[in-house]
Amino acid sequence: MIYIVGAGPAGLATGLFLLEKGYKVTILEKEDKIKSTACGEACDLDSLKMLPFDSTPYFERVIEGLKFIFNGKYFYVKTRGVVLNRQKWLEGMADEFMRRGGKIKFSSKVIKVDSQYIYTEEEKKNYELCIGADGPLSVVRKFFGENCAFDVGSEYEIEYKKDDDFLEFYLSKKFSPHYAWIFPKKESINIGVIGNFSMLDRFLKEVKIDGKILAKKAGMIPYGGVEKFVKEGVVLIGDAACMANPFSLGGISPAIHAAKILAKNVVNLKRYEEEIKKHAIMDGILMKGRKAVEKLNDKEMEIIFDRIDGKEFREIKYRDIAGVLLHFTSVPKFYNISRALLHSIKWGW
Ligand SMILES: Cc1cc2nc3c(=O)[nH]c(=O)nc-3n(C[C@H](O)[C@H](O)[C@H](O)COP(=O)(O)OP(=O)(O)OC[C@H]3O[C@@H](n4cnc5c(N)ncnc54)[C@H](O)[C@@H]3O)c2cc1C
Repeated sequence: MIYIVGAGPAGLATGLFLLEKGYKVTILEKEDKIKSTACGEACDLDSLKMLPFDSTPYFERVIEGLKFIFNGKYFYVKTRGVVLNRQKWLEGMADEFMRRGGKIKFSSKVIKVDSQYIYTEEEKKNYELCIGADGPLSVVRKFFGENCAFDVGSEYEIEYKKDDDFLEFYLSKKFSPHYAWIFPKKESINIGVIGNFSMLDRFLKEVKIDGKILAKKAGMIPYGGVEKFVKEGVVLIGDAACMANPFSLGGISPAIHAAKILAKNVVNLKRYEEEIKKHAIMDGILMKGRKAVEKLNDKEMEIIFDRIDGKEFREIKYRDIAGVLLHFTSVPKFYNISRALLHSIKWGW
């Protein structure tokens, strides 16, 4: 029997891909029902389309692109994406998974995994394959003795009507060492920071957004991957494998890519590890881009945004930024940000 630990995006996506290939699958989920974790709910369209499941009914808002904002100036990237109703989307995937013959055992908290058994609070289960998709604080990952780097994200959903169909990323170090975000839904927005709630409250004041808080959530975002994705008959995927894109910090798209690769390689798990390590979702440029963003200061940001205000990223010409490069402590900083952005747009953010 194949067991998946966790019914989040990684666990459900893997479950659906495995059923498609004819395997018998049971998901063990600690909650008593499907429960979405903290998330801005945004994902690129191409990654969602890879799923053997129609996500369209769960689109809250279709997105035309991403806007990067500093001090009222911005540049944007046209790219197709959505803001999901993630709770309903996960429920939809879970229903479809069960309709196609998969089983979900709710209120089954896994407390330990070893080379033979999965231990829940009530029983131990013999497994042929155990897939750890149990999120950032993965119990399954303990079997691997792996740690990974992580960020913390804090977010409100606020009743607020936003007109344009762009995901907004605010880059000033005043709010966050990485970024703050506003993602529009139908009648509300997800607004958050990579950081804590006092940073988020500061951001809220700065952008003068005021409305009823509908939800308040925070969570860890593990990124950069693990050393080993496979140990004996146990495999890690999604946040359990620290798979979030280090540059964008999106975790849904890498989980979908990895789920497809895993379902293809259940008979040869080493190949899963090899393919994941070579795959675009683990490309070193994403980490380089992340480090470059962290080092970028507000003075540099001001100079860049002055030059490229209002422009589409791919239309920015070298002459627009040639002067800017002189202000950088190192030209590779700018080069790496630009490559990481293009890579994320191509492969999923
Ligand atoms: C504030 C914030 C905003 C974010 N915004 C975005 C965004 O806009 N777009 C994006 O792509 N990503 C975003 N992310 C990242 C994204 O939410 C995660 O990468 C994604 O949820 C990972 O999916 P997963 O299935 O691996 O883990 P999870 O979503 O954490 O799911 C894990 C599942 O396992 C279950 N579980 C945990 N432990 C056990 C156990 N011991 N036994 C049994 N079951 C267990 C949990 O209950 C849960 O159902 C954000 C993260 C944060 C914190």
